[in-house]
Amino acid sequence: MDKNTLLQVWPIPAFDDNYIWCIHDGRSALVVDPGDATPVLTYLNDQKLTLTGILITHHHADHTGGVLNLLQNLGTHIPVYGPAGDNIPGRTIVAKQDDKIEIATPRVSLVVYEVPGHTLSHIAYFANMQANVVEPMLFCGDTLFASGCGRLFEGTPTQMTESLAKFASLPKNTLVYCTHEYTLSNIRFALAVEPNNLNLLSWAEKAQALRALNLPTLPTTIGQELQVNPFMRCDQAEVIAMAKEVSGQLNLPTPAHVLAVIRAWKDRF
Ligand SMILES: [Zn+2]
Repeated sequence: MDKNTLLQVWPIPAFDDNYIWCIHDGRSALVVDPGDATPVLTYLNDQKLTLTGILITHHHADHTGGVLNLLQNLGTHIPVYGPAGDNIPGRTIVAKQDDKIEIATPRVSLVVYEVPGHTLSHIAYFANMQANVVEPMLFCGDTLFASGCGRLFEGTPTQMTESLAKFASLPKNTLVYCTHEYTLSNIRFALAVEPNNLNLLSWAEKAQALRALNLPTLPTTIGQELQVNPFMRCDQAEVIAMAKEVSGQLNLPTPAHVLAVIRAWKDRF
């Protein structure tokens, strides 16, 4: 096979609303956050793909629960990349900030970002444009969702703000492969924060149409999230004003203060 065959990225649905992303070149495949082995094994078998690596973003069971079963079925030689510090089943390679992971098949080079917030050791994998990657790709786990962000189970609003700022600095055309189909409920909340955001209103219509056809609303892009995602817009006047109104606080001096208010609001929304 031509080593420049374009990489494809496909969602393998799991549980109620998880996506296990499969990156492949038509022959070799990586999977990201396989919480369940069964749908992955079925997909690999149907597509006649050989699993050559597993990428883990964080320790939650719906992202790691299928790892050992995959290794048992497909071979314990398959490398499992994951963050330090947490118990990641089957992990063979610890991935840290700025690590460059060079994978031979499928041919891809990934850079690691540490993005604490949802969990403390959460990481993301980024592939910039390469011979077989036309647009940059980000595998962000439960840190960033289309029009939303992950709950702060372990980290602080400041950590999440800094993690989202790392994503904001990526190219705007970066395709963002989030791991849950939470988009419609996230949009309902985003519209409560910014009822007059025209980009958000038109995205709401598009997302509803996709879900009506049972199609994924993902991947999103960094450029789109900067326009519609309240958690990436904590420096915008309308978001700051709404956070002040909701919290009754007159002074929210930093984006992290604003994020703290709207994240707490979303938790009870
Ligand atoms: Zn999680």
